[in-house]
Amino acid sequence: MAGMTDQPRIHLGSLLRAGDDAHAEGELDHLQYVQGKERQTLRFARPAPFEVDVNSLSQDEMYLQGSFEPTLILECARCLREVEVPLDLSLGTLLRYDPTVEEPYLEEAESGEELLVFGNPDLDLSGYLAETTLLAAPLSVLHDPACKGLCQVCGHDLNLGPCEHSAQVPVEEIDDELGLPQGSAHTRQTPFAGLRDLDLPDE
Ligand SMILES: [Zn+2]
Ligand SMILES: [Zn+2]
Repeated sequence: MAGMTDQPRIHLGSLLRAGDDAHAEGELDHLQYVQGKERQTLRFARPAPFEVDVNSLSQDEMYLQGSFEPTLILECARCLREVEVPLDLSLGTLLRYDPTVEEPYLEEAESGEELLVFGNPDLDLSGYLAETTLLAAPLSVLHDPACKGLCQVCGHDLNLGPCEHSAQVPVEEIDDELGLPQGSAHTRQTPFAGLRDLDLPDE
C-alpha cells in the first residue's frame, strides 16, 4: 500500500549484495532537497504518488524505472494567481553505486543517458525527483487563456473588472512576459545544475 512518506527512499542493499530487484512506492506532499548548501522545498497541491523499480545491470550499475505524478503549484504569468499543474512523469535512469559519493548526483553517462550516482545503498530519491519535476515543469502558465492580468500602474487584478487606468493601458498591450523571470523553469535553480544541459525526452 502507498503511504505518505517524508522522504522517497529505496533500499538497494540486497540488490547490491545479491542482485535482488528493489521496489519502493509512496506518496509525497512535498520534496526537500539540498541545492548548493541550502535546503529547498517543493510543495505539491495534493499527495503525489511515486513508484520505482530498480533492477541490477552489473556489479555496480542498475536501472531505475517508475512513475511520479506531482501536482505543482505555479503562479499565473499575468495575474500571479496560483495554478495547479499536474505532471505525469515517466522515470528511467541508470544508477551507479560508488561508495565514495556522499550526496547523490546526476550526470550524463557516456551513452548520453542520464546517470544517477550514489554512495548510500539506502538511496534518497528526493533530489532526483525534484530535478525531474523541475525540468518537466512548464516555463509559464496562465490560470485562464483569457487572463486579463494586472494593471501595470496600480496592480489591480483586471480579471475582477477595470480600474481607473484601464483606458490608458489597453488590455491588449499587457506584456505576456510580465512576472516571468522568477517563475520560469529555465531560470529556476535546480539541485543538479549540470542536468540542465541534458536532452531529456518531452513528457
Ligand atoms: Zn491569471
Ligand atoms: Zn490601475
